[in-house]
Amino acid sequence: MLIDAAGLWYRSYYALPGSITAPDGRRSGAVRGFLDGLATLVRDYSPDRLICCLEGNWRPQWRVELIDTYKTARVGSDGGEDTPDGLDDQVQAITDILRSWGIATAEHPDYEADDVIATLRHNTDDEVVVVTGDRDLFQLVDDTARSSVVYLLRGISKARRYRAEDVEEKFGVSPAEYVEFAILRGDASDGLPGVTGIGDKGAATIVNRHPSLDSVVAAAEQGELKGRQNSAVLESSDYLRRAEQVTRCVSDVALPEVAGTIPRRPTDSRQLAALTEEWGIQLSVDRLAAAFGGGGT
Ligand code: MN
Ligand code: MN
Repeated sequence: MLIDAAGLWYRSYYALPGSITAPDGRRSGAVRGFLDGLATLVRDYSPDRLICCLEGNWRPQWRVELIDTYKTARVGSDGGEDTPDGLDDQVQAITDILRSWGIATAEHPDYEADDVIATLRHNTDDEVVVVTGDRDLFQLVDDTARSSVVYLLRGISKARRYRAEDVEEKFGVSPAEYVEFAILRGDASDGLPGVTGIGDKGAATIVNRHPSLDSVVAAAEQGELKGRQNSAVLESSDYLRRAEQVTRCVSDVALPEVAGTIPRRPTDSRQLAALTEEWGIQLSVDRLAAAFGGGGT
């Protein structure tokens, strides 16, 4: 099981009310929601191995150089990622908890969690369940390779598992065509403009007929696309070329070996106990320990 950790803590932050606080009054919903979400996922899917994939770089410069609007809407006044009130402390707490528990993490300073997940998927023949709130990762769904995506909506309760036919049903394209589809449609939250006048339906129709960006542009050059779509694609051909590398996950990131063994016992019980008290999360910690099939926290 490969967890897009930031996806899980963001969704937890927004799913739980701000009234959930630690003994010192700081918001703690994201910490609790993250641990409870992890417990639910481990209980529901019984993974043999579990790796929390971190955003070593949430907005790599090499992606920004390809598309200069990439994720600009999420850049804060300090130039870093704009995070909501009271989340930063909780992210620190979550990463401290992961470390003291001995829950495996993976990250790389030049890459997003997307790329780390794609690489770990690429490097194993095992069945993989990816847990994320990032639509880009639908490109990794592959029934033959036994990889599916559990897509988080608000927290874990409305999460749904997608296999190839579910991706096709939702978007009208196969997972292998998802990147082309996403580029044509665009993604406002990631700052990907898409092609003017082409929405979900139009993008799916085009991609079904022309399964690569080169063939879409070639079709437009022959005047084969419908009306205004044809000229819009021609005007966007530079964007289409650049967006491919931005949207496709990198699957050969140099990562150290991560075993991902489920920790039956925490590696640093004292630190975990201190964090548990500081954040008032005994119930959530007990729940996750039970899901791990251990105890002794
Ligand atoms: Mn992502
Ligand atoms: Mn992404």
